[in-house]
Amino acid sequence: MDEKKRILVVEDEKNIATVLSYNIKKEGYDCDVAYDGETGLNMALTGGYDLLLLDIMLPRMTGFEICEQVRMKSQVPIIFVTAREEDKDKILGLETGADDYVTKPFSFKELMARVRANIRRSSGEVVRRKEEETARRGVLRIGDLEIDRERYSVTKDGEPVELSKKDYDLILFLAENVGTAFTREELLEKIWGYDGYFGDIRTVDVTVSRIRKKIERDPARPEYLMTKRGVGYFLNAR
Ligand code: CA
Repeated sequence: MDEKKRILVVEDEKNIATVLSYNIKKEGYDCDVAYDGETGLNMALTGGYDLLLLDIMLPRMTGFEICEQVRMKSQVPIIFVTAREEDKDKILGLETGADDYVTKPFSFKELMARVRANIRRSSGEVVRRKEEETARRGVLRIGDLEIDRERYSVTKDGEPVELSKKDYDLILFLAENVGTAFTREELLEKIWGYDGYFGDIRTVDVTVSRIRKKIERDPARPEYLMTKRGVGYFLNAR
């Protein structure tokens, strides 16, 4: 038997935290809860969790701040649990490196589908990366972009580009299929591991705009990560 995957919930509303924790455990995961941001960050950094579920408005430190701090050290999957519509806009504008978000009130079925997909994806990734390390080496070059599959890094004009795991996965996938456009649904399935039903295609848009800010001279007029009207996204063969 595999060891139980461990999830940290950071949520100050005790009744929500209790329901989340109860249901997560029922799904066969271990679950710890922190009720404020500072405690949550400390636990996230030291607890070796497989996934973090972060509320945004928290006492002492916001979910965004936790996410930023954690991202400096770890690629653990992070899902924001947001309270209101406007939080979504905040997420759109922020480059905190979260993998996904769900909006309250959420269906538990949907949340768990996302939790499973993110955990599956990140543990599969560890295995896949090890295999790739020996099987497939080399650098992909597209214009001034270099994607180093051995180091899992991207440079632009020789300068390193800071990318989250999903940013990197998406750009690598598009680079390996350069010139081919994929729908948001296809990308959700291939990069996030979601089936069409549970995925939120805006997740793809958020990730694309985050990547554009990092690699494009003018994110409003992309030269690399292109939108194909009526289809989706592709990486321009330059
Ligand atoms: Ca809260």
